Amino acid sequence: MLVIGITGGIGSGKTTLASIIEEEGFKVFYTDNLAKEVIEKDVSVQNKLIREFGNEVFKADGQLNTFFLSNLVFNSESNENLEKLNNIIHPPVIQKMIEITNSCEQAGEKMIFFESALIFESGLEEGFDYVITVLSNIEKIMERLEKKMNRNDILKRLKKQFPSEEKAKNSDFVIENNGSIEDLKKSTRFILNIIKSDIN
Ligand code: ATP
Repeated sequence: MLVIGITGGIGSGKTTLASIIEEEGFKVFYTDNLAKEVIEKDVSVQNKLIREFGNEVFKADGQLNTFFLSNLVFNSESNENLEKLNNIIHPPVIQKMIEITNSCEQAGEKMIFFESALIFESGLEEGFDYVITVLSNIEKIMERLEKKMNRNDILKRLKKQFPSEEKAKNSDFVIENNGSIEDLKKSTRFILNIIKSDIN
């Protein structure tokens, strides 16, 4: 079975690409969702978050206080809080990825995908047979994300990620997503066909 990573900077179109791959009939797992699941269900993770960042990490109804946490992580020049958060969340998420991979393999899947913004930042690239990076230019990213986030917040998040060009250089495939959704579908199908030819 082939295990393929999909990555790219914030707003580059990772999730859109992943949903195109799902439409083509493949299983895609989203590490953001795995992280949410871990935070919701894993009491030891919850305790570590509270110990590190205080009770405010969770709202009165028990939900994660994403506003509080994003503020701690992105509104600080240093990467200390981001690193602390990653050190708590990444190990159980990686464990989940391993479990998913094993059970898909047993179920006879031929190829599966994981979508994660942080494949390179977390040093996970070696775990994949192939890594696909989605690249979009900054104007497109701003145009797409400004509907849900202000410009300043987008720039702050971009600053915390590895430069996209660096990710592209270390990837097996790069998809440029500066055109229409139809263009993205075409590029995705093209790359899927190449990868499919590697299934034996
Ligand atoms: P994030 O890092 O915020 O999770 P992402 O990399 O997963 O972002 P998407 O959510 O796929 O990016 O895309 C961001 C927004 O841009 C979405 O609203 C999506 O519908 C839109 N979008 C992505 N690609 C295109 C495209 N080629 N044409 C038009 N809109 C697009």
